Amino acid sequence: MKLFSTNDKNNTVSLRHAVLNAFPPDGGLYMPCELPQLYTGFFREIKNLHFTEIAFRVCEKLLSGAIPDEIMWSIIQSSFDFPIKSTRLDTSLCVQELYHGPSLAFKDFGARFMAHLMSYYLKDNDEKRTVLVATSGDTGGAAAAGFYDVPNIELIILYPSGKVSALQEKQLCCWGNNIHTIEIEGSFDDCQRLVKEAFLDKQLCRSYTFSSANSINIARLIPQSFYYFEAYKNAGIEEDLSICVPSGNFGNITAGLMAYKMGLPVKHFIAATNSNNTFTSYYKSGVYQAQAPVETISNAMDVGDPSNYPRLMFLLGSTWNKVKEIMRSWSHNDKDTRNAIKEVWDKYNYLLDPHSAVAYLSAREYHKTHKAKVCIVSTAHPCKFQNTIESCTGISPEIPPRLASQISQFIKPAKIQPSFESFRDLLLDRTRST
Ligand SMILES: *Cc1c(COP(=O)(O)O)cnc(C)c1O
Repeated sequence: MKLFSTNDKNNTVSLRHAVLNAFPPDGGLYMPCELPQLYTGFFREIKNLHFTEIAFRVCEKLLSGAIPDEIMWSIIQSSFDFPIKSTRLDTSLCVQELYHGPSLAFKDFGARFMAHLMSYYLKDNDEKRTVLVATSGDTGGAAAAGFYDVPNIELIILYPSGKVSALQEKQLCCWGNNIHTIEIEGSFDDCQRLVKEAFLDKQLCRSYTFSSANSINIARLIPQSFYYFEAYKNAGIEEDLSICVPSGNFGNITAGLMAYKMGLPVKHFIAATNSNNTFTSYYKSGVYQAQAPVETISNAMDVGDPSNYPRLMFLLGSTWNKVKEIMRSWSHNDKDTRNAIKEVWDKYNYLLDPHSAVAYLSAREYHKTHKAKVCIVSTAHPCKFQNTIESCTGISPEIPPRLASQISQFIKPAKIQPSFESFRDLLLDRTRST
């Protein structure tokens, strides 16, 4: 398997290189050179396949021998040792719950697969890596759960002070060992900027070999493509299916488009956004204009300039027409999102977290003009947003015991101003004291 940079098609690298280095020096993003079609029988057989078998067959095709079969199989089995549940709300709407992993968010799929893959590549040469991750809430928790105790890797998480939920903060600060957490007195974009600058800083790079766990790493996108095939399996293959994805950095929906390119029959991919509607505006106008992020109750989607936009555009031949053909997009404010949480509870006795509720609203919009069945990709467990859910429904969703015991310890994070000097000093101090 070869990957190229979206800024330079002639710059190709191996999977190992793309996974360990996260992004190319030319500022582009790595993409597979080829997204091969799955064999014809695959979509007939799929209903008899377990999710891990689906994942394996997609890997076989996509990675084309980059990893030995038995290692691939063991990475898949240890990464996806939790269920995917599919719940039908009515005849035209179902919810695929991707949040039954250790951090209770869909990001476990990407984080665990990436951690196992990196560890495999590093063990080979007894190399070490420091993985930097900026998080608006869920990425960091999933990365911590994925990388905890993984040999040869140390994880440093940056999160914006006061901008993640109380539970998310506990999930970021409960680890110790090879996981380190830093609270940044700024925004998520500040956290992302500090990570970017660290990668480019010569002094830091003498003490550290960095890698990134943000959705710019292709090792997170590859496993996210697997559950789109699972959605197709669970929907029953006779009818048209559209998939609705609550989107922020657009990694999740880009992974869906990768599955589509490999032959997955999907009518439309619906990108649901909150008030951070850069993509929705682009979809309507054909003009892409990055915006400053605004805070919402679906905070993992508070992104003003989605980092996977170049990948998405590449997959769709870089034309607005193609985007209009295969995608749909709507944006929804907090007030409507709260009403949606209440409506779904009243109507279906079902709890949606705020991100999935944004997707529910888009699915409703879609059904005003389209007939296809819609599968909502549900990205987080409602208990991660207890206060919001309780204020909308009067119900306080319980935290599963597994998570409750995980977050019982709180390790106070380092806290710094959002300046690169503070961040660099902190990292350099660590190397002096150890
Ligand atoms: C990260 C996240 C999203 C957005 O996913 P992208 O891949 O960034 O578009 C949506 N919902 C939840 C709960 C998330 O954690």
